[in-house]
Amino acid sequence: MMQRLRVAVETPQYAGLARALDYACPHHLPAGTLVRVPLGQRNIPGIVWAGAPDQEAAEARPLASLKPVAEVMQALPPLPPVWCDLVDFTARYYQRAVGEVALSVLPPELRKLDNAGLDKRLRLLAKRSGWAMPEPEGSLPPRRKSAKVQSSRPGPAEPAPPPPLPTLQPEQAQVLATLADAFEQAQPPCHLLHGVTGSGKTEVYLRAAQHALDLGRQALVLVPEINLTPQLEARFAERFPGRRLVSLHSGLTPAQRLANWLTAHLGHADLVLGTRLAVFCPLPRLGLIVVDEEHDPSYKQQDGARYSARDLAVYRAWLEKVPVVLGSATPSLESWQHAQTGRYKLLTMAQRVGQGELPKVRIVDMNLQPQPAPGQPAAPLSEPLLTAVRARVERGEQSLLFLNRRGFAPVLSCTACGWKSGCPHCSAWRVFHKLDRTLRCHHCSFTERVPKACPDCGNLDIQPVGRGTERLEEQVAELLQGLERPGGGAVRVARIDADTTRLKGALEQQLAAVHDGSVDVLIGTQMVTKGHDFRRVTLVAAVNPDSALFTADFRAPERLFATLMQAAGRAGRDAAAAASSEMWIQTWSPTHPLFTALRQHDFARFAASQLQEREMAALPPFSHLALLRCEARDAAVAEGFLRQARDMAQALLTEQAADGQVTFYAPVPPHVAKVAGLERRQMLIEASTRPGLQRLLAAWMPQLPALRGQHKGLARWAMDVDPLSI
Ligand code: ADP
Ligand code: ZN
Ligand code: ZN
Repeated sequence: MMQRLRVAVETPQYAGLARALDYACPHHLPAGTLVRVPLGQRNIPGIVWAGAPDQEAAEARPLASLKPVAEVMQALPPLPPVWCDLVDFTARYYQRAVGEVALSVLPPELRKLDNAGLDKRLRLLAKRSGWAMPEPEGSLPPRRKSAKVQSSRPGPAEPAPPPPLPTLQPEQAQVLATLADAFEQAQPPCHLLHGVTGSGKTEVYLRAAQHALDLGRQALVLVPEINLTPQLEARFAERFPGRRLVSLHSGLTPAQRLANWLTAHLGHADLVLGTRLAVFCPLPRLGLIVVDEEHDPSYKQQDGARYSARDLAVYRAWLEKVPVVLGSATPSLESWQHAQTGRYKLLTMAQRVGQGELPKVRIVDMNLQPQPAPGQPAAPLSEPLLTAVRARVERGEQSLLFLNRRGFAPVLSCTACGWKSGCPHCSAWRVFHKLDRTLRCHHCSFTERVPKACPDCGNLDIQPVGRGTERLEEQVAELLQGLERPGGGAVRVARIDADTTRLKGALEQQLAAVHDGSVDVLIGTQMVTKGHDFRRVTLVAAVNPDSALFTADFRAPERLFATLMQAAGRAGRDAAAAASSEMWIQTWSPTHPLFTALRQHDFARFAASQLQEREMAALPPFSHLALLRCEARDAAVAEGFLRQARDMAQALLTEQAADGQVTFYAPVPPHVAKVAGLERRQMLIEASTRPGLQRLLAAWMPQLPALRGQHKGLARWAMDVDPLSI
C-alpha cells in the first residue's frame, strides 16, 4: 500500500520554512533515509523526515495525487535520529528551511550520486580500507571494528609504536580527572577549558580522546582553520597509530570529502578532525566533542544558514549526552559568562608546561617617538623595537611582526589634488599591491593597473598612504640591511599573508622555512598568529593594532585581545628561549585598559571589564540579537524593505504574549555600505530573552518572502541570528 512520506529537499530560500515536501512510497522508510525524488523536471536528493504530515498539506494534496519517490539510496544506512534532530534545531534556530540545512551539510558529491553510483563508491572504499560492506536496508554497522585497521593507504604496514606519553602536569591531571567523571554522567555538562597558550591543552584533548576510544567511542575535534588541521592531524596520528583518523574541511577534493564522511558515518573512523562543517558529521559512536580555540570567529558560518559551529557543538553534545570541551586561552565572552554563572564547568590551566614563561609584554608609546620630517613616511618600527629586532637577528633568534592589513598601502593618493584610489563599485579604497602594480578592491576584487598619472589632474606624483604587510616587508628589509647573522650572510625577511599563500602548498612551504630557521624576521597578518608552534620565535610585535580599539563593532576589543594573546603565545614556546621572550605593542593609546590587562596576561580582568560594559549597553551575552540584512542598487529600496519588515514585526509583537523586551533599531548602512554596486542596509533586533527573540522570528520570518515581492529591486536579504558583528 502506498504511504505518505515527508522528504526534506533543498527548496528555494525560506519557501516553506519548516516544512518538507510530501511524496508517495510503496513501503515505509525510516527517517534519515536518503532518497531521490522528482521536483519539476528533475530528480533531486532528499532525506526522509520524521514527524506527522502537515494537516493543511495533507488536505491540499491527497495521497493519490503525490508523486512517488524516484529512488531509495539503500546503499547508505539512514542518517541517525540525533543527526536529524541537530538539523531540525539548526533550521529552527537560524531560521532556514530544514531541507536547505540538511542537504547543504552533506558532502556535495553525495548529492550527485544515484544508488548504483553510491554503492560502487562504498565498495571501492571498503576494499581500499579493508572493512566489510555494510548490510543494506539501513542496518547499522557493527558497533566496533577491531582497533587495528589494515589500511591499504600508503604508510608502514605495521603501525609505529606510540611514543611514550609525557607525565601530566598537575593542572592537566586535574582537568582530565574532571573529564573522566563527565564520561560517567548520564548528561555530562559543557566544559570550558581556559588554558594559557602553551599550557598543554592539546595534550588534554589527546588524553580525553584516548578515554573516548577506550570506551569504544568516536571523538570529534573541531578547529577553526583548515590550515591548522594538518598540524593537529599529525599530532593525533602520532598518538594513535592504528586508529582510523579522518579530516573534514572544504580543502579536500569532493571525492576525499565523501570518502571521509562515509568512513565516519559508517562508524569506521575513530577520530574526526575538521572545521565548522564537521559539526554535522554523522557519528554512530560519538563519545566526545572538542572545540579548539572556541572563541574563533571562523566557527560562524557567514552565508546560507548562518550557524555557529561552537554553539551547535554544545547542543549536539547535549543531544547525544557526551562530554564537550571548549578550549581557549581567551574564551568568548559568551562562554566565559556561562562559566561564571555555572552553566558551563570552568577548567583552568594557568601554567605553561615546563619552564615556559609567558612573554614579557612591552608597550611602546608612539606619542613619545620622534615624528618623521614633513613629507617623509613614518618609520614602521619605533627605535626601541628596531633595536630589539636587531638584537634577535644578531643572536640567531626569530622575530614575528604582525600587521593585519595586506597589500603595500591601503590607498594611493595624488599629492596635488587629493584624488584617492577609491573603488568605483564599493564605498571602500582600493589597495595598492606593488608586486604587480595593481589597485585591488578587497571587497569586490575589482582590479586595475596603477594609473601613470592622477586620473583627475594628470599629476605624476601619486603616493601610497599608510602601510600594509608588503610595504612593511620592504621597509624592514631596508632597516636591517647590512646586519650580519651569527653564521654570516644577510638577514632573511619573509612574509606570510593571503597574497603569498594563494597557491596550493605555498603556506606549508613558507611555514616550513620558518620552522627550519631559514627566516630571521617573519612578517604576517592574523594568519600567522593562529596556533602555529614556532619554536625559535622570541619576539612578537603588533606593529599597528590601534584601529581595532576605535571601531563601532562591539566585539572588536574582545577580538583584538584574543589576537594579541594568541600572537604573544607564539613567542617563547621553547623553554630555553622563554626567559628572553617578548611581546611588543606599538600604540598611540598606551594606557588603554586592554593593554594593561594584556601586560598582566590577565584574561579574567579583561573579561570582567568587557562584560560590565556589555551589561550596561545591553549587548550580548546580556541580550540576544538578530540582524536583518539586505542589498539593493537603490538604498531607498533597501531601507523601505527593512522599515516595512519592522512594522510587520511590531504588529506581531502586540499579538504575542510578551517574553521580555524586543527593541528594533533604525535601518543603517554597515561599515562598508556599498559593495559591487549594491547598497547594503541592516536592521538590528535586540531582545532581552532568547525565547522572546525566537518566538518573534518564528512568526515573522514566514511573512518576509511575500514582503520581498513588494520591493522591486531588492537583490538579497538574510536574517543573521546571533550575528558576530553589527
Ligand atoms: P596549548 O595547546 O595549550 O597551547 P600544547 O598542548 O601545544 O599547548 O602544549 C605546549 C607544548 O608542551 C607542546 O610541545 C606539548 O607537546 C608540550 N606538553 C604538553 N603537555 C606536556 C606534559 N605534560 N609534559 C611535557 N610536555 C608537555
Ligand atoms: Zn590629482
Ligand atoms: Zn570594490
